[in-house]
Amino acid sequence: MHLVLIGAHPDDEALVSGTIAKYVDQGHRATIVMATRGGRGHWKTPSEKLKEIRTMEMEKAAEILGAEVIFLDYKDADIPGGDSLREELVDVVRQLKPDIVLTFHPLVWRDDHRRIGLAAVDASLKASLPLVETSYPYHRPSPDIYFFGRPITPLKPDIYVDITGYMDVKIEAFRQHSSQWVKWEVDKSGMSMEDLLEQYTHRFRQYGIESGVKYAEAFISKHGRKKAYDLLPSTR
Ligand SMILES: [Zn+2]
Repeated sequence: MHLVLIGAHPDDEALVSGTIAKYVDQGHRATIVMATRGGRGHWKTPSEKLKEIRTMEMEKAAEILGAEVIFLDYKDADIPGGDSLREELVDVVRQLKPDIVLTFHPLVWRDDHRRIGLAAVDASLKASLPLVETSYPYHRPSPDIYFFGRPITPLKPDIYVDITGYMDVKIEAFRQHSSQWVKWEVDKSGMSMEDLLEQYTHRFRQYGIESGVKYAEAFISKHGRKKAYDLLPSTR
């Protein structure tokens, strides 16, 4: 099977990288599609330089996870909403033919994340319609979709993936995004890299506690298809 993550910025995959590593380890294929190269994700590094750095970081992280990576080259913090993004993602889905799509829940707070999530779910359906003609043939059935991120409404995860054996590789991939570690001059929180790693680890331990395993990643499934519960190696 083919799992495709559709995200906005290099490091977005860190929310679900254990699932990617586990899936690859089980003999499946994984592709990470990033809409931007993260050219505005720093307080001082010039945008073009930052894009280069974060492209490299993303490629290293993907290699550690065993995934391929594709960039769409939208502008960070300016991903367009609406039809143009959806049309591009229709062709992405048609080219990659995913069985599973992981993407942001369309109700998360940040606009880039929200737009990519909504466009990904709409494109996944539209890509399956034979009479929607683009450069690529239609892809059926449309992939099962699992959302990640924290919605602004109090929606609880309903799918957990046990990533207990994959925390080391997950952390190693996360460490590659070092441009994002000490980011903002205005951030006076005093958090060290080790503090951030502890916080990162704790988050997935918390999901593990919620689902009865050591470490887990959490998803909200797209309802409406019974099969939505079958494709991820979830704890239920
Ligand atoms: Zn992001």
